[in-house]
Amino acid sequence: MRDRLPDTIDAAFLASSGKGTGREYCGDLSIVGMQRLAASLADTDAPDLQVRLHIGRDAGGVQCLEGEIQGVLHLTCQRCLGRVEFPVQRTFRLALVHSEAEADRLTDGYEPLLLEDERLVVREVVEDELLLALPDFPQHSEAETCTLPEYRDDQETVTVDEKPNPFAALASLKRN
Ligand SMILES: [Zn+2]
Repeated sequence: MRDRLPDTIDAAFLASSGKGTGREYCGDLSIVGMQRLAASLADTDAPDLQVRLHIGRDAGGVQCLEGEIQGVLHLTCQRCLGRVEFPVQRTFRLALVHSEAEADRLTDGYEPLLLEDERLVVREVVEDELLLALPDFPQHSEAETCTLPEYRDDQETVTVDEKPNPFAALASLKRN
């Protein structure tokens, strides 16, 4: 059974639930208001993300949150500073832990998510995962689609040529 995506998930029920059980949530989520993410974006005009979450206990009894985020983010191309659409398809698998020691005991395949209390704030979890999904160097996939800085430099040179440039003479001396 799938529930609508809530603002928060109370993980307390996991303590009494059996292995291999859980709850699933599905819905749209806006990135507007995600301050940390916004600092890395060109704008927040992108359509809502599609988010699917499953919280439960796996067959080994680990309390886990698994999820998938799909959508598009608007980043700034580092080559031309134009806007570039970055498709997001992020899947994650987090183990809910209550201490560092508990995190150290985790088996492979899980990233620890330290719980302050039993309440998971869905927006914060999704924002964290989006930050991890961002590329270090966003750019248009094809160089031709960039408005290249070199092109803009050429235009500037044309206007500069109309005025006497004291460095132009120096530059030609150096070339010779
Ligand atoms: Zn570009």
